[in-house]
Amino acid sequence: IIKFDKVVKRFGDLTVLNKLDFQVAKGEKVSIIGPSGSGKSTVLRILMTLENIDDGVVTVAGEPLWHEPEPDGLKPASEAHLRKMRAQLGMVFQQFNLFPHMTVLRNITEAPTKVLGLSKQDARLRAEELLELVGLADQAQKYPHQLSGGQQQRVGIARALAMRPNVLLFDEPTSALDPELVGEVLNVIGMLAEEHDLTMLLVTHEMRFAREISDRVCFFDRGKIREQGTPEELFTDPSEDRTREFLKAVL
Ligand code: ATP
Ligand code: MG
Repeated sequence: IIKFDKVVKRFGDLTVLNKLDFQVAKGEKVSIIGPSGSGKSTVLRILMTLENIDDGVVTVAGEPLWHEPEPDGLKPASEAHLRKMRAQLGMVFQQFNLFPHMTVLRNITEAPTKVLGLSKQDARLRAEELLELVGLADQAQKYPHQLSGGQQQRVGIARALAMRPNVLLFDEPTSALDPELVGEVLNVIGMLAEEHDLTMLLVTHEMRFAREISDRVCFFDRGKIREQGTPEELFTDPSEDRTREFLKAVL
């Protein structure tokens, strides 16, 4: 459902993605691990069209993300095309990124009413179901600052799900949390991982968790996938020295 084909991304002189080839199949749960600066967040930011690319092709559900077909080739994507592509993806950010001036309920109903054109009533019902799912049914009328970090992040997950995305993207969803709050967020993500239809792409430093929930783990190093495999392969028997070094440092 996601495909990066020889994707190059540069920031000035710095090449962040260096002809990256990377794919995620529908329903697959994939974790990305790797050192700081290796391009992990950039992959997610490109998918959310928050960053453009310099070369290569990114497709989502078979359609190019940054270009759209026209009779004699491809043209740069229109805003409408980008919006349509973005709507297939839900992103959960490290810093939650909730709207501070909106209640929890409104944080979740805002995009479905504005972007999907859902009625207020339907959006509300959907939000209440999702709050139930993430264990926050009783917090709908609170504001983000009245919640703990773990609760805020669970709202972030409910908000992403409210758009009914085909793919959920997580960028280090627990790394801004106090250690005692990490578990409740991982529990919710773990529960979602059991849904076979949902495709998940997770950037994480939680190696034990990545190991538990992933079908495949990718080790990123300097803008490329240095090594990938099942959690078993990658964590217990990595074939690259670089992977072994990294795991030794983080485990
Ligand atoms: P971390 O584990 O620290 O989150 P990462 O693997 O997610 O790292 P990226 O955020 O993808 O790394 O960044 C890759 C490189 O690109 C880093 O060296 C970063 O400093 C650089 N970079 C990212 N965004 C920008 C930007 N907007 N302008 C300039 N350089 C950037
Ligand atoms: Mg990052």
